[in-house]
Amino acid sequence: MCNYSATPATRALTPTGGFLGAFSYSLNPYVGCAFGDRGGCPFCYVRALPVARVGMGPWGTWVIAKSNLLELLARELGGLEESGKLARAAVFMSSATDPYQGMERRMRLTRGALELFVRRPPRRLLLQTRSPMIERDLDLLVRLGPCLIASITVETDDERVRRALTPTSPSIARRLLTARRLRAAGVFVQLAVAPMMPNHPEHLADLAKGAADRVVIDTYFDGDGAGGRRSRALGMGELYERLGYEGWFRPGVERDLMAAMRARLGKARVLFSREGFNAL
Ligand code: SF4
Repeated sequence: MCNYSATPATRALTPTGGFLGAFSYSLNPYVGCAFGDRGGCPFCYVRALPVARVGMGPWGTWVIAKSNLLELLARELGGLEESGKLARAAVFMSSATDPYQGMERRMRLTRGALELFVRRPPRRLLLQTRSPMIERDLDLLVRLGPCLIASITVETDDERVRRALTPTSPSIARRLLTARRLRAAGVFVQLAVAPMMPNHPEHLADLAKGAADRVVIDTYFDGDGAGGRRSRALGMGELYERLGYEGWFRPGVERDLMAAMRARLGKARVLFSREGFNAL
């Protein structure tokens, strides 16, 4: 059972850097995550960051909506436009949670933000989600045109793996259907195999071919911002051992999938880790 609340924020756009160095700002309409009311995704390193301590209870059991997000964002986008910075700005939405939390159905903060971006488009907006709810906003995604990258998380092609590691996330088939629907409507779709979980490389590559304009693959060792230390500290090595996936928790394990993806989509459309996420 998830605890939902709303509170005002002090800003909408947060200057970013580090892993997302090519982006100017991140935008998180929500704090906390309800994808996994059994404790969230086990690899989610946000649970170990200070932001995870602002809610009541463990990560994965609460979500706080930023009640004044749209007012703040309208003002901040106006300021960026006036100063001439908007046309150079790249926004990552969202870096610390999924922008399509269940409470988005009634709060409509992500939709409201997209409406503001339609009026004042930045150079690039990357919308990162694992939720088919993104389809609700297809009209706005289409209007955002080439400014938008819709990035859909698909960590594996194997439903047994998905159920073992992220049981409350949408099924792989449903997420791929969303990707195909967006792409059919003309939206640029990125599949984020991040973090890559145990998979069948040839099959996953076949699935990606029809669903993605490009693919970014990332691993526990390259994508946690600490060379795998964060993932180890979260117990991913032990969890993989318990599940019988121990061979999948090691550096370089992405090579077969990279090769299979590149054979199907071409080298230019298959990117890796930090460089891939920052390809604007
Ligand atoms: S959906 Fe994203 S933010 Fe939520 S628990 Fe999983 S990895 Fe963390």
